[in-house]
Amino acid sequence: MWWSDDEWEALTAAEQCGMCADAHLLTNEHSALIATTATSYVRLARNQHHAGYSLVILREHVVDMAELPSDQLSKFWADVQRAARVIDEVFRSKKIDYLVMGHRMPHLHCHLLPQHATDDPLRNVNIADGPTRLPSDAFDAAVAALHRAWESSEPPLGR
Ligand SMILES: [Zn+2]
Repeated sequence: MWWSDDEWEALTAAEQCGMCADAHLLTNEHSALIATTATSYVRLARNQHHAGYSLVILREHVVDMAELPSDQLSKFWADVQRAARVIDEVFRSKKIDYLVMGHRMPHLHCHLLPQHATDDPLRNVNIADGPTRLPSDAFDAAVAALHRAWESSEPPLGR
């Protein structure tokens, strides 16, 4: 059964939104900040079962892509593309999967889930694989490498 109307109303309210509360922080329980743009926060997930697993989170509280004006939508996807290029540069993945869901966390965000040589390409994607937590020095090194790659990458839309 889907959420009750009251549950969904609470989940979708900006005032109670977990992502609005912590997406901008340098570190939180789930991830660490790689980069900030005018549109998005780019974060490395603490669960690194798929090395390079990251998220691009819209700064604004918007529940669904359908609500975004086209210019905002373009900027959001440009941030996703730039993040993918950076992840690929650092982690040399075989393929990056892009997942936009939000039925549990209805604040627009895209999961970037890299697939590597050791992954079975016939298996369904599961963002909950693992979890695999790196030692903090290795995690911090990954954040730093992604941040450096981000800083030296070109914004796709020339912003
Ligand atoms: Zn939010």
